[in-house]
Amino acid sequence: MLNQSKSKVPAYHLRIPGRTLALLSGEVAIGLLFAITAAPLHGPVPFITVVTLTILFAVETVDLASLHRAVQLHRHAVLTLPPTFRATCPRCRYDRSQGANVHHCSRYGVCFPSFDHYCLIFDAPIFSSNVAAFIRFHAWISALSAVMVTGCLLSLPSCPTSRQFILFTLALAHSCVFIAMGGLAVKYIIAARQGRTMWGTGADAGGPPV
Ligand SMILES: [Zn+2]
Repeated sequence: MLNQSKSKVPAYHLRIPGRTLALLSGEVAIGLLFAITAAPLHGPVPFITVVTLTILFAVETVDLASLHRAVQLHRHAVLTLPPTFRATCPRCRYDRSQGANVHHCSRYGVCFPSFDHYCLIFDAPIFSSNVAAFIRFHAWISALSAVMVTGCLLSLPSCPTSRQFILFTLALAHSCVFIAMGGLAVKYIIAARQGRTMWGTGADAGGPPV
């Protein structure tokens, strides 16, 4: 990440791509479906599940905003470099000799250090400044799925038969989400430990062209 004075920092602009919005809307819809299905039951399980889902959804949204904010700040920092700055990228003003795995992203028009991949769901490059938010986001979704599976399974025996199918389907679907999202986070961590990017051996390997 490049240094920049506070006065140059652009105003915060939350950008939620359509695919991310669909993901978040799906989560809200599933939470509401669970609440409608299980909330009439007595006992603390439905209540605790819904409260935990709401908290996880909130922290997930914070990390999503943080991920995109890091991209905005980095892009602004590169595009506002002083004219005397020794730029080595022919397309933007970034000094590619600084840091490893620097990759020019044509979608945003600037180079990103420690570039890992371009995330299709977030519609954003994953690089040194937002990779922590990227991992946390996956961890929150995994946790959210684990809570949903537990809540569904605990509510299942007390539910009327007509509603058991919905809870069972939700539990099954969230088991898959738990495995997929947790698996992606583990995949990134293992790749990073081995000095590789998530989807290949170099910044240009795997993922869509950027
Ligand atoms: Zn560049």
